[in-house]
Amino acid sequence: AAAPIETDVVIIGAGPVGLFAVFELGLLDIEAHVIDILPKIGGQCAELYPEKPIYDIPAFPVVTGQGLIDNLMQQIAPFEPGFHLGEMVCAVEALGSAEAPRFRVETDAGKVFHCKAVVIAAGGGSFVPRKPPVPKIAEFEDVSVFYAVREIERFRGRNVLIVGGGDSALDWAVNLQPVVSRLALMHRRDAFRAAPDSVNKMRALVETGAMDFHLGQITGLKGDAPNLEAVVARRDDGASFEIPCDTLLPFFGLSMKLGPIADWGLDLDQQLIPVDTEQFETSSPGIFAIGDINTYPGKLKLILSGFHEGALAAQKVHRYVHPDKRLTFEHSTSSPSLHKKLGVA
Ligand code: FAD
Repeated sequence: AAAPIETDVVIIGAGPVGLFAVFELGLLDIEAHVIDILPKIGGQCAELYPEKPIYDIPAFPVVTGQGLIDNLMQQIAPFEPGFHLGEMVCAVEALGSAEAPRFRVETDAGKVFHCKAVVIAAGGGSFVPRKPPVPKIAEFEDVSVFYAVREIERFRGRNVLIVGGGDSALDWAVNLQPVVSRLALMHRRDAFRAAPDSVNKMRALVETGAMDFHLGQITGLKGDAPNLEAVVARRDDGASFEIPCDTLLPFFGLSMKLGPIADWGLDLDQQLIPVDTEQFETSSPGIFAIGDINTYPGKLKLILSGFHEGALAAQKVHRYVHPDKRLTFEHSTSSPSLHKKLGVA
């Protein structure tokens, strides 16, 4: 196993609130690594509404979900945070004492971090794939059924059926086609909620016979689990048919659930983490919760609240990370030391 990564703070969640926490911590000379299950940065803003306009970010009369994330990335760049994407934090273990906490954080990819504070900015929890309602599908998972493509090479030479009509389904149909031995796409109707460019590319591939398109809904799996032989599907008129394949990629979107956070020994209140409103610390000293994941009297699940929470949490994190340094309040406009950190001196 690789050596543990030593850092000041691990931030769980690369949504807008986790990203801005990098900035507030960075101003206080605190280094952070950010971990997210999703393969991309930006949490709900990037995953659920990249092109929708947001109207209530202070001083941005209008900014899209992705635009906000791009700006945050630019703002935190001077602090060079480490990003670990496509990895879920599965364990947080408290070491040390209440006065000098230390943590061991582990991801499902086996990466281990040692840090002095943990900031949970996990939003609505883990994004998890919606699964097709098909009996015994779990028995085929990770061998024949996959809900995400992490490595294209894994599918080389395979006979793949993609199910779905959104961006993931269409993008992967177009991108996997050159690699697989045979590719089919199935959707319940001949209309897609995906970028027109990918839809056009897919239709062109179908026209030249490079891939197949089926209208229908998945109803069952055939084969000796975990080895898939065919997918059983139903057409609108009720007729049933089979598509031979050894690999199924259903892209039915994502839903959110609390996930492993429930097992870390923190007090919870209806799937949320209660915090105090002075430092946004949880029931476990050194573990903070900011953004959509926390709760306190008067909580509003707004991005701007999460930004404020990160700024206050950073003040307390400073005491754990630099116990012998006094914190002096400074304005970013006029502080030479802040300018140096931001590279604008
Ligand atoms: P999130 O954005 O949810 O990010 C949390 C991240 O943590 C996720 O990427 C998740 O994968 C990751 N994660 C969770 N658990 C783990 C784990 N165990 N390991 C690793 N990673 C983990 N808010 C506004 O203020 N104004 C608006 O106009 C607005 N419009 C919205 C429109 C829509 C359609 C939606 C859905 C939301 C809107 N919101 C709006 C709400 C806003 O998006 C959220 O308040 C904001 O995204 C919360 O940010 P966050 O960083 O706390 O969490």
